[in-house]
Amino acid sequence: MRKGIDIGGSFIKVFWEDGRREKHYIRDISRDKEGFLKRLREIVFDGYPDRVGVAVAGFTSSKGVVYKSPNIPALDGVNLKELFKGISVKVINDVSAGALGEWFYNHRESKVLLFVAIGTGLGGGLVIEGKPFLGACGSSLELGHHVIKVNGEKCSCGRLGCWEAYCSSYGLERLYEKISKERIKDYEILERAKKGEDRALKAVEEFKGYLLLGLMNAVHIFNPDKLVLGGGLIDAMRGFLEGLEEELKSLCEKLPGDCLSLSFSSCAEYCMARGALVFSFIDDI
Ligand SMILES: [Zn+2]
Repeated sequence: MRKGIDIGGSFIKVFWEDGRREKHYIRDISRDKEGFLKRLREIVFDGYPDRVGVAVAGFTSSKGVVYKSPNIPALDGVNLKELFKGISVKVINDVSAGALGEWFYNHRESKVLLFVAIGTGLGGGLVIEGKPFLGACGSSLELGHHVIKVNGEKCSCGRLGCWEAYCSSYGLERLYEKISKERIKDYEILERAKKGEDRALKAVEEFKGYLLLGLMNAVHIFNPDKLVLGGGLIDAMRGFLEGLEEELKSLCEKLPGDCLSLSFSSCAEYCMARGALVFSFIDDI
């Protein structure tokens, strides 16, 4: 039996081939490197799986090395294939795994599927004819760090004006703070917007403008026939995104716009783990 594992900053999620799911809380040990890696090994080896697909947030090489994982500092520089020696593992960036899961479980008719996940950060994943496109070293689709504004807002990567600096939880919080001079959490902004608060509605509107801009760039570059939007923040603001597909198409060139369709992800918190499971079945990447 195989399983997929999604290593996040707060939880490790497991998705077994027979559909079983597990969630392990690890936030309390995520800064204790030794304790974290020991727990991680226990979770990976638990149940004696034949093979494990591992999805990790951050820059993750196809050889299994985590180069930079902003939310899980204990993983920085760790070679996961060495850590899990004795078991067959395949390692993939979490949003690339999410994209593969979207294709496999929901959109197998798609030739080119682009998945954009927005929550704490912003990530992308691309699946071409059923295979994830990972780039030469495993670090493709860092869409969150494509720059949409010269000398713009500071991003988690340290650069200025990245897409993520606007379209992420902290991006929305900053947009709201600039308008209101008040720093509150993303979900509070959305609650206020739902109640009709002008400042919150303005922040959401600005967020949507940046969202459309980044998506338009991505559509022009990749020409996907299926664009799937997911992630915690997108799920929470779905009510404000009605009509997004038409607006996006109106901004895009006619050819890529005409063959595009947009869906929202419905797999919620096990997206990346189920995609990692699918990745464990792909042998030639
Ligand atoms: Zn960035």
